[in-house]
Amino acid sequence: MRTPIIAGNWKLHMNPEQTTEFVNAVKNHLPESSKVEAVIAAPALDVDALRKAAAGSNLHTSAENCYFEAEGAFTGENSPLVLKEMGINYCIIGHSERRGYFHETDEDINKKAKALLEHGVTPIICCGESLETREANKQEEWVVSQIKAALEGLTAEQVSSLVIAYEPIWAIGTGKTASSDQAEEMCKTIRETVKDLYDEATSDNIRIQYGGSVKPANVKELMAKPNIDGGLVGGASLDPESFLALVNYQD
Ligand code: 13P
Repeated sequence: MRTPIIAGNWKLHMNPEQTTEFVNAVKNHLPESSKVEAVIAAPALDVDALRKAAAGSNLHTSAENCYFEAEGAFTGENSPLVLKEMGINYCIIGHSERRGYFHETDEDINKKAKALLEHGVTPIICCGESLETREANKQEEWVVSQIKAALEGLTAEQVSSLVIAYEPIWAIGTGKTASSDQAEEMCKTIRETVKDLYDEATSDNIRIQYGGSVKPANVKELMAKPNIDGGLVGGASLDPESFLALVNYQD
């Protein structure tokens, strides 16, 4: 059985003081990790405050990006090795905002996935199509090609452990959620792609999130779908009450 995973992606919001305040407000009201994994992905400058405030609680920690080299002359980058040393559990890679604004390629994302796995940090690999691609009805081939590129060279064991987030770009920050059927359809396609590339056990193990205007009002319906194992949530994760409503969706 796959443990549901609801992750807040704070994007470029919050400072270290606000991070500590947020974690203190939620940390005693989180579900048991075996029931639902509650995760916050914070900006790099807040990750230290996040892990300190979350220590000993059911809150899992994540970064929003990292580089594929552990150290060297790479001014401004963040190391996957240091994430591991800090005890950070997850790292989002390949978010559409990174692909779009910062020109990240499928190849970069594959290298980042390998680097994170090598250092023992679990990648949350994002994929998803633009409105233009969906309107041309090319969303499946687009996402399948992103997944194949991201997983290139990874072992079945590595793939079993990671998380994929399907985030249609047209549903991010727009208030326009993909319908639960549209989200389920693509998450199912992703799982079948993993099965084709690896085997049934790997596709049964991998966790697939949906992201794009997830909020307390729609989380239950999305989570009821058989191939949706979690949510990657932007705007609705910034408020403690709303985050708690999301992670406690089973109650
Ligand atoms: P919103 O939940 O604000 O639509 O953002 C989704 C997202 O990009 C999460 O990574």
